[in-house]
Amino acid sequence: MFLPERRVDPPGIYEKPFKEMYDYIVVGAGSAGSVVATRLSEDYATSVLLLEAGISDLEPDDVTQIPYLWPSLIGSEKDWGYLSVQQKYSHFAYKNERAYIPQGKVLGGSSSINAQVFVRGSRNNYDQWEHEGAVGWGYDDVLPFFKKLENATDTTYRDSTLRGLHGPIVIKEITGSILQSFHQTAAMEIGFPTVDCNSDDPIGRLLVSINGVGGF
Ligand SMILES: Cc1cc2nc3c(=O)[nH]c(=O)nc-3n(C[C@H](O)[C@H](O)[C@H](O)COP(=O)(O)OP(=O)(O)OC[C@H]3O[C@@H](n4cnc5c(N)ncnc54)[C@H](O)[C@@H]3O)c2cc1C
Repeated sequence: MFLPERRVDPPGIYEKPFKEMYDYIVVGAGSAGSVVATRLSEDYATSVLLLEAGISDLEPDDVTQIPYLWPSLIGSEKDWGYLSVQQKYSHFAYKNERAYIPQGKVLGGSSSINAQVFVRGSRNNYDQWEHEGAVGWGYDDVLPFFKKLENATDTTYRDSTLRGLHGPIVIKEITGSILQSFHQTAAMEIGFPTVDCNSDDPIGRLLVSINGVGGF
């Protein structure tokens, strides 16, 4: 196994002076803010300031670069560590019935501390939203954008009309555990098909995918 080369913050990045004015200020360098800031800054004539409350994800002892260590980041300085209000009908096993809600406080936001499981939501989720009034957010409206961001390189996905092949985010099927083949055989024996977890009808043994830019 080869680990990707360790990335570091560009030299002098923290000494760079601020400008007096920016065309856009994006608050929060998480999943959404980072993409918004990147896309805006693709126009060289546009100035963008991206503000993040947390620290860099490229510190020398940082484990955000090793995806399987994500559980160790919960409760760390890279987690806001929110608690819910006291629950009336759930969380009876929790102290004061309050749920722990991890949220990334680091460059990359929650995507830097998450499990990288790539589940887009099913057709029904989006169509229900649209039915409730979110016009333009139906599955057929959002699907082209999901495909645009995906680089689904596995052969299992190559012929799928639901997958994008040329986007920036690498999508791969989770493989590697010997238990997986037992699981698949058992599911087949009782009549469940193997389906992509992001397909229109995700009932069956689910092919779960992960996202990662090269490193996984
Ligand atoms: C432990 C964990 C596991 C998860 N696993 C998965 C998974 O496997 N698959 C999946 O699809 N999703 C998963 N998620 C959910 C997913 O990561 C989030 O839905 C997504 O990252 C949210 O993106 P966001 O841009 O809305 O917020 P975030 O990515 O959380 O970004 C918000 C950013 O804003 C910053 N910020 C907040 N306040 C301020 C302020 N006042 N000034 C400056 N910056 C500020 C924060 O520090 C953070 O960096 C997981 C989440 C967690 C916490």
